[in-house]
Amino acid sequence: MIDFARPQQVNILGVAIDCVDFALTLDLIDTWIVQRRVAGRSCLPCRQICTVNPEFLVDAWRDPAFAATLARADLRVPDGAGVLWAARRMGRPLRERVTGSDGIEYICERAALRGWRVYFLGAAPGVAERAAAILAVRYPGLQVAGCYAGSPADAEWPEIRARLDAAAPDILFVAYGHPRQDFWIDRHRHELPAAVAIGVGGAFDFVAGVAPRAPVWMRKNNLEWLHRLVTQPWRWRRMLKLPIFVGLVLRAR
Ligand code: UDP
Repeated sequence: MIDFARPQQVNILGVAIDCVDFALTLDLIDTWIVQRRVAGRSCLPCRQICTVNPEFLVDAWRDPAFAATLARADLRVPDGAGVLWAARRMGRPLRERVTGSDGIEYICERAALRGWRVYFLGAAPGVAERAAAILAVRYPGLQVAGCYAGSPADAEWPEIRARLDAAAPDILFVAYGHPRQDFWIDRHRHELPAAVAIGVGGAFDFVAGVAPRAPVWMRKNNLEWLHRLVTQPWRWRRMLKLPIFVGLVLRAR
């Protein structure tokens, strides 16, 4: 099959980040949904989108299985100011951050226009439902195919699969945090009924108001990491990966 022109890529710590902005990401999703509707589920596996931030890159550098999962994905979008900084340093500037938290809004906006069916999988019980209800008000006409917390454990797969098959979504948001959500999509994508699955981390928590999102001025000044550290101090151990990322990028040729 002739694919949509592939976006250019920039290699950061061994991971090929796609040079896309939100507009191109939405156009690719559009194309993939049309392709899947035309070709049918049995011909085209579900496409996988990974929202790559510096933590992903350190994890992929340490774990070849995660690096392989990212390599198999159809799109690796640049989430995280550190990814843009690393690309700039290599003389290959990326256009903009394409985050899961903003992406869920843009995708739902486009979905409401196009009639795509969206499914919300993951987060704590009840959070997916709250996020979906808020987005359905924000984007009138949004078709919510379903919501379920579930879990990425293998024992849950038959239940999730039955629910997804009954709901027949076009887009599947998976909020199990990285790397679990990305491993989960990679493991099951050949059986997923959706045309596109995207790991969105804590995006349901942000939309539902369970976790506060950084104010716009902090996001604009690349300080979202600081906001997360202050509001979710238990993440400090994970956030040690940020200086490791900076060290690895500075050391890389
Ligand atoms: N989560 C879940 N099941 C799990 C582990 C995590 O539903 O087994 C959810 C959790 O409730 C939260 C999200 O996954 O909504 C993780 O958010 P985080 O901001 O940590 O994502 P990351 O930064 O790792 O992508």
